[in-house]
Amino acid sequence: MSLEENDTVKTIGDDGERVWLYVRRVVGRFVLLRYIVSWTLFLILFLAPWIDINGHPAIFLDLPQRRFYVFGLTFFATNAYYLLFVAGLIIFGIFLSSSTLGRAWCGWVCPQSVFMESFVRLIEEFIEGKPAQRKRLDREAWHIKKIIKKVSKWVVFIILAGMISTTTVAYFIGRQGVLESQFDPWSHPVATGIFIFLTALLSFDFLWFREQVCLIVCPYGRFQSVLMDKHSVSVWYDVQRGEPRGKTKIKESHQPLGDCVDCGLCIQVCPTGIDIRKGSQLECIQCAACVDACDSIMQQLNRATGLVRYSTEAELKGEKTRYFRPRVLAYLLAFLGVLSALILTISLATSLDIRVTRMVDAPYEVLEHGQIKNGGQIRVSNHLNEPIMISVKLAAKDQDLSLVMPIQSLELKPASVNHLIFFLIDSSLEKLNQARREVTFVLLDEKQKELGKAQFTFLAPEVRVSPKQ
Ligand code: SF4
Ligand code: SF4
Repeated sequence: MSLEENDTVKTIGDDGERVWLYVRRVVGRFVLLRYIVSWTLFLILFLAPWIDINGHPAIFLDLPQRRFYVFGLTFFATNAYYLLFVAGLIIFGIFLSSSTLGRAWCGWVCPQSVFMESFVRLIEEFIEGKPAQRKRLDREAWHIKKIIKKVSKWVVFIILAGMISTTTVAYFIGRQGVLESQFDPWSHPVATGIFIFLTALLSFDFLWFREQVCLIVCPYGRFQSVLMDKHSVSVWYDVQRGEPRGKTKIKESHQPLGDCVDCGLCIQVCPTGIDIRKGSQLECIQCAACVDACDSIMQQLNRATGLVRYSTEAELKGEKTRYFRPRVLAYLLAFLGVLSALILTISLATSLDIRVTRMVDAPYEVLEHGQIKNGGQIRVSNHLNEPIMISVKLAAKDQDLSLVMPIQSLELKPASVNHLIFFLIDSSLEKLNQARREVTFVLLDEKQKELGKAQFTFLAPEVRVSPKQ
């Protein structure tokens, strides 16, 4: 095979024009399994904003309130450090899955593949027919039947794009917000703008751009070769078994030939239009449609399946595949380490998050009779999905200070952030006070059980001024 032969993108013609693919649908064990995975993911995506867990939508990223509800857990903006764990899981997860299963993400879980292969192509075939019928329809001049078919397809794709966009927006403004914005677009202008943009983008993708996302936009395929090696599982054509290829009739007269009958079905079913027999290629998203296609041909010919199969380069070269190699173990350990740290952090997180801050631009104030006053606010986040009654007092060691609060006890609403203003007054006029001392606030529940503590630095002038007489 020459470099030129393998160094072209099937969907770009000699003059740079788009070559439209009429992908044939095949039914087999991998394609059916992929439908199940895709439809399950689709269901989760659609239901997450509408199903409640612990009194909140399963996924709701409430940016204005800085609260994030994820499958029953509530996070606040102060929990932003969790994002570091999430980033770690994504990075090590990609490293681990690519080094072991190649581009399994692309073919099986990537939203682009999920939408294209398990929805868009099925809808297209339902409306316009098999590849040969679709090709004929596209070549025909416009007539009433063609207009009806094309317009029906466009409308269904735009509705599908609209449904996905509505759900995406619902993740951020909640179901109430999304319903309001659907009936009154000006009630949430930003959300409406994002909805229109996303719907237009997805419609463009479904109607025209399609596999170009994987071929020329997505960066993941570009660096897969760095993450994969000859022991990574991927879709391969067994060259030893298949070559030299040839039609069955020719095979009877020309001996010996391999098992590949050069039927081309593996190319016709490929969503990126490549020929897997040319070896590992950037365009291959490892959807395994060619595996099912070739297996169906081998079954018809009463030959062993697996001429195209999930395998490794090592296995095809007759070497032993090493699934547990140092880099895989390193990625696995790193992934499990980050996952354990995240689970531990979440399980150790207290139900209340307490922070005390000083009043801006006012380190301390000397009152008329020489007392020293410090002011600030206590911010209490209730991470629970139930209300809590709290009260605030000073630790025993700080009882010489006076705590003044407009509200000293308060019912914290579920998943709420609350601010309590306080003043601390040091009235010990005669004592030589320290310029700064650590004060401890204690939060108690209704039964005077301690819920948490927070530190505050009480500031005073270095030299105490004499009280005014
Ligand atoms: S070569 Fe096979 S596995 Fe790769 S994208 Fe095409 S059909 Fe899918
Ligand atoms: S489907 Fe199988 S037999 Fe047919 S061309 Fe592809 S590899 Fe050869």
